[in-house]
Amino acid sequence: MIPKNFIQDLLNRLDIVDVVERYVPLKKAGANYVACCPFHNEKSPSFTVSQTKQFYHCFGCGAHGTAIGFVMEHAGLGYVDAIEELARSVGLEVPHERQTAGDAKKEFAQKVAPDLYEVMQTATRYYREQLKLSQRAIDYLKQRGLSGEIAAKFGIGYAPDGWQNLSAAFPNYQDETLNETGLVISGEDAPVKGTPKVGNLLSSKLDAELTPPPDARAARGLGAGKRYDRFRDRIMFPIINVRGQVIGFGGRVLDKGEPKYLNSPETPLFEKGRELYGLFQAQKAIRAGQRVLVVEGYMDVVALAQHGVEYAVATLGTATTPYHVQKLLRLADHIVFCFDGDKAGQRAAWRALENALPYLQDGKRISFLFLPVEHDPDSFIREFGGAAFEQRVQEAMPLSSYLLREVSAGLDLGTQEGRNQLLQRAKPLLTAIIAPATALLLRKEVAALSGVSQAELEALYEIKPVARAPRIAFQKAGRAPLSAHRLLLQCLIAQPGLGQQMPGEWNDQGADADAVLAVLMVLRETDFTLSSPTLAQLFQGTTHEKALAAAQADMLSWGEGFDVTAEFAGLLNRLDEGRRRQEFQALQTKVALGGLACLSETERDLYRQAGRGANG
Ligand SMILES: [Zn+2]
Repeated sequence: MIPKNFIQDLLNRLDIVDVVERYVPLKKAGANYVACCPFHNEKSPSFTVSQTKQFYHCFGCGAHGTAIGFVMEHAGLGYVDAIEELARSVGLEVPHERQTAGDAKKEFAQKVAPDLYEVMQTATRYYREQLKLSQRAIDYLKQRGLSGEIAAKFGIGYAPDGWQNLSAAFPNYQDETLNETGLVISGEDAPVKGTPKVGNLLSSKLDAELTPPPDARAARGLGAGKRYDRFRDRIMFPIINVRGQVIGFGGRVLDKGEPKYLNSPETPLFEKGRELYGLFQAQKAIRAGQRVLVVEGYMDVVALAQHGVEYAVATLGTATTPYHVQKLLRLADHIVFCFDGDKAGQRAAWRALENALPYLQDGKRISFLFLPVEHDPDSFIREFGGAAFEQRVQEAMPLSSYLLREVSAGLDLGTQEGRNQLLQRAKPLLTAIIAPATALLLRKEVAALSGVSQAELEALYEIKPVARAPRIAFQKAGRAPLSAHRLLLQCLIAQPGLGQQMPGEWNDQGADADAVLAVLMVLRETDFTLSSPTLAQLFQGTTHEKALAAAQADMLSWGEGFDVTAEFAGLLNRLDEGRRRQEFQALQTKVALGGLACLSETERDLYRQAGRGANG
């Protein structure tokens, strides 16, 4: 573990503008520096670096972080390597701290900003070593046609059979981080820990996944409160983010067994709807060819790469989400969805189409590749080879053709009823499209198919003629007024010392309120000596990373004269007032139900005071 004060020291000596400029040329723009974003394709610069606040933020793709985060993401380095590299550049040597037992403060700090990435890295190494030791697992991969090279490229490993194998890799098998990263499952009788939890480190979804019947029985067998490895006797596919860090695992059974695929649960590091398997390995090929292939399984991605199709990614046991579509359209001009040939694959393709419609952009293409019913990409490419597969990609069906085929399927367009039904089916789809040219062409086609004019169709759907771009309304809708907690978080990030004025008690709810609480805990623990960049860095990879990034991004619009101290004082008053109002209302309700007599002495005082305040 690298000590916090070293991180602070390092960030103090670095200037993020220098660090970024080693990789990306920057231009001065007002108080900040800008460039075309190195993490997504764009023609006008939305990548912003703040020298005064020492962070970068991309308004296009949301890339965000400190100097350390930038080197991790841009150079694809792990946390420790990025720090080593930056320390070298300013002539510092990185100290590594051993954790001493019973140091409660330190243990607590780890709970707030745990090195969860390091835990995942250790697990990945362990699984890879185990693969070398298991002839059965090696044979399985060979029989699927995978070379050692491809297995290494994707970091494929093997989780052996048994309940607590990971204790060989983690001397403290009871460590909370094993639970937080989803590597272990705690038995259903596990006692609830008495320690206060910071934020919702465990998502409730975990609980739902926690007790598949056979595992639950096994857990009881192990005794109350026992934990055991989530992945047992499975081929392990590390799920890697664009920074090159392992954030989750997918495990596949070798023989017949259920479930066939098992993913890590949602954790502070891993959000299924936002990640794509194989993106880290495929990035280069996707950018170079300006196209990306979306498939359903990890085996598909790996098998395609084995046959030279290196631009494939897979969704992780979820449908293709709008977020996926946006992410991929930033990377490439052409998305090809390729799902299994069976019924489930067809449904997945249609879901992908529905989720893609609002994000279509004129000039970008989306197509659908339909394989023969008995095939998935893995089996197809193994049987017919890479060239035959590429041929299929070339011939993939454009989104517009797929949409028109599906909405008119089974209809007799020679009858008025058929044409009417076509109009009904197409309505939700056509009205979801914002891209002007795409919308126009599809409306014309649907209108022609149903024998009405384009104007009649637009009147029928109650949509504006395409010519008027709905852009402005779209942008307005995205801008909600800042909540008091978001502002509070911003003040604390800008001037961590202000935290000393915060009240000790805190019951507010919500992501921003949780983040404020977590920030306060770290600040108190370090006697309010943390600098703003260190604070942001410590929260990288925690549940609160997103809240902090969003808060910092808004801070870029602060003017020169923005008075953080005054803003902060005003906020505390507002929050306090709000709380008092709530208390008073609660008392009013009590009085209305049971009269003044049901209040305690102190409550009665409060009630009178507040009542006076409310009247005068
Ligand atoms: Zn970007």
